[in-house]
Amino acid sequence: MGMLEPPTQASLPHVVRSKNEIWREVVVWKESGKTVGLVPTMGALHAGHLSLVERSVAECHVTVVTIFVNPTQFGPQEDFAKYPRNLDADLAQLGKLGVDVVFAPADDEMYPPGHSTFVEPPEVAHRLEGQCRPGHFRGVATIVLKLLNVIPADAAYFGQKDYQQCLVIRRMVEDLDLPVRIEVCPTLREPDGLAMSSRNVYLDAGQRERALAVSRSLTTAADLAAAGQRDAETIRQAMRDVLLTAGIQRIDYVALADRESLEEVQEVKGPVVALVAAYVGETRLIDNVVIRPR
Ligand code: AMP
Repeated sequence: MGMLEPPTQASLPHVVRSKNEIWREVVVWKESGKTVGLVPTMGALHAGHLSLVERSVAECHVTVVTIFVNPTQFGPQEDFAKYPRNLDADLAQLGKLGVDVVFAPADDEMYPPGHSTFVEPPEVAHRLEGQCRPGHFRGVATIVLKLLNVIPADAAYFGQKDYQQCLVIRRMVEDLDLPVRIEVCPTLREPDGLAMSSRNVYLDAGQRERALAVSRSLTTAADLAAAGQRDAETIRQAMRDVLLTAGIQRIDYVALADRESLEEVQEVKGPVVALVAAYVGETRLIDNVVIRPR
């Protein structure tokens, strides 16, 4: 007693690169009665990702985090090549949270030569992101199904930050009878309100300041609804005004929509979701909030 304790060294997660190996590991756990949580990510981890991981670690015996920048969900003009990648830093963070295994396959492990089968995503994929990023949800649905096949988890954890993605995945899981529970976790934000995103590293100081208008447009929508504004177009216009006033002109969409179908509403009668996608410089940011009117 009285001696200094050595700092506890968190051990790094075991990194698995092969589909066969991860599948075998997961099956052994399941046969021994352990529950398995899956957290799919594209790496460049931030506190938002880690909140999903913490939830899985708390709820499941074993947690597998996947780190894979999925080429099929990026359009030809998008940022696949320059998307931030930092496996060593990611592993260090995951080790501290007690993650057992990280599945980080190479591109051709998931898409070997000749791969040509894709998931046709559900109806809800066609709006908003689907209009702006053709093929995006086809890539997302395909990789999530493939990951669930090689990692037959009891639960898979996703962030509300990607609201439409959650709807697409929930629908796919139901439609294709996948034996997994989908858990949606709240969006983590910087103290000033900006939703955490791996793409925030692209923003310079001025852009970082302007980017605040994205979350501010959502709080504006929530405030108007709370104050009794029922006309959806009035709210959408107020959201656009917040973005434009901040100098954000390239707006992919501003929506006030049904929480399930994502159809635009005319009147705010019950809970709705407000969603925004806009460019700050070359960086495309998305954010959303569920609004419960008074
Ligand atoms: P990504 O690496 O961008 O594919 O994200 C992996 C998972 O983390 C997805 O389910 C995202 O919705 C989730 N995620 C991303 N950003 C956040 C955030 N700020 N708060 C909570 N979850 C997030």
